[in-house]
This record gives sequence, C-alpha cells and structure tokens, in this order.
Amino acid sequence: MQVEIVPCLSDNYAYVLTAPGSRQAVVVDASEAAPVRAALQRSGLELVAILSTHHHPDHVGGNEELVREFPRARVFAFGTDRGRLPALTDGLSDDARFDVGGFEFRALHIPGHTLGAVAYVGADCVFTGDTLFVAGCGRLFEGSASQMYDSLNEKLARLPDATRVFCGHEYTAKNLEFAAHMEPGNAAVRAKAERVAALRARGEPSVPSTIAEERATNPFMRCQSPEILEQVAEDLAGDRSPQAVLGAVRRAKDRYR
Ligand SMILES: [Zn+2]
Repeated sequence: MQVEIVPCLSDNYAYVLTAPGSRQAVVVDASEAAPVRAALQRSGLELVAILSTHHHPDHVGGNEELVREFPRARVFAFGTDRGRLPALTDGLSDDARFDVGGFEFRALHIPGHTLGAVAYVGADCVFTGDTLFVAGCGRLFEGSASQMYDSLNEKLARLPDATRVFCGHEYTAKNLEFAAHMEPGNAAVRAKAERVAALRARGEPSVPSTIAEERATNPFMRCQSPEILEQVAEDLAGDRSPQAVLGAVRRAKDRYR
C-alpha cells in the first residue's frame, strides 16, 4: 500500500492510498477538497472511495465536493453516523470487511472520541482518525473512558506490532511532552521525542508510527505503568482499574498546558 500524506487545514492529515500500478485512489479523511484534489491530480488518480474515520467537520469537509467531481466514488463510515456524515454511501458495522481500490479493508469500531469512530485496517496499515494519535488519544467528546480504553487497548493494541499507524492530526510533539511528564523514566518516550523533534525541524510529518511504538510510548496504552499509576493516584478515588486510570490520564491531559 502506497500512502501519500496530504497536510490539510492547520494540522490535519488526509491520506491518499494506491495499490502499486493502479490509477485508483482511496482517500482517508478528506478534511478539505483542495489539497486532496491537488494530490489526486498530481498523480493522475481517479478517486474511488473516501474512508471517513468520524463525523467531525475537519475530517469530512471535502466529502461533498470530491464526490461531485468523482460521482462514482463511495463514502464509507460507521453505520450509526448516517445522517450526520456528509455523502455517506456505505455504513459499516464493527469488523466489516470490504474491497475497494485494490485493497481489502477491515473496519474496527473504536468509540471514545465519538460514538461512531472507526479505524480502517488495510495491508500493514491502520488509519485511526482522532481516536489513537501518535503518543496520545482524542478527547472524550461522546464516548466514555471505558470505551476509549477498549478501543485503544482491546482493539488497536492487538493489531500486529509492525502495523503502521496513521492518525488524524500532527499532535505528536506535544503528546510526547505529556508522555514524558507522565512517565519520566520511560526511555522509549525520550528516544521517540528526539526522533520526532528532528523530523519536525525538517518539516516532515511524525506519521506513521507503529503499534509496537505506541504500546511502548503512548500513556493511554500504558495504564498499568507504575509511574503513570503514581501520577494519577489522587484522581482515582479507589478505582485502580485500567479503565479508571485511562480516564484520569485523559483528565490530566485536558489540564496539561
Ligand atoms: Zn475529531
């Protein structure tokens, strides 16, 4: 799977996916039409599908316009987002499989940031929208801490270690700063922060990460870490379940700078 990273708006990423030798493109999260259209035109690609990770406008703002230009393109999203996600044609259920653009994708329902959030797994990649960020996770706008825990730790963390992780925003440097604050003893966090600082200084994106790197550095996937437990102990009110720890880490992140 060839993945072209298309910066959109201030810090969003859309992704243009093509199979080797194919002129068909699948776009993950058409945040806005213009940069996506430009990327398609540069490579002479026909848009055959948009995979929307969730309904927020900064992830679906280009759907209507792109579908007008490519009337055969299908728009995939989680089924319950029908009615609030523009141009949706194919409503998905958890674990649904579908073929498009020369790829087989699997949908993973990952509620937490929104109730209809979905990740797309294809080839060695996963597209996680605003649920799993590199070294972070999205705010709990619609779902609960417990749902976010399951989405990150029971679903995404179980993908193969080498799975490449492409998320919805470039928030990595800030996220790693918070990760280091939560787990000062985590050497993997420090090493990754150095790598990301070098990438960003060159104007390059911090994506993709991998599932193995996220398990090693992402505080929301490390709810059993003794250092993290200690950091949030006062906010746990006796419930030291990993779901409660995730909720406390999320609240700490909401307050952090
Ligand atoms: Zn969002």
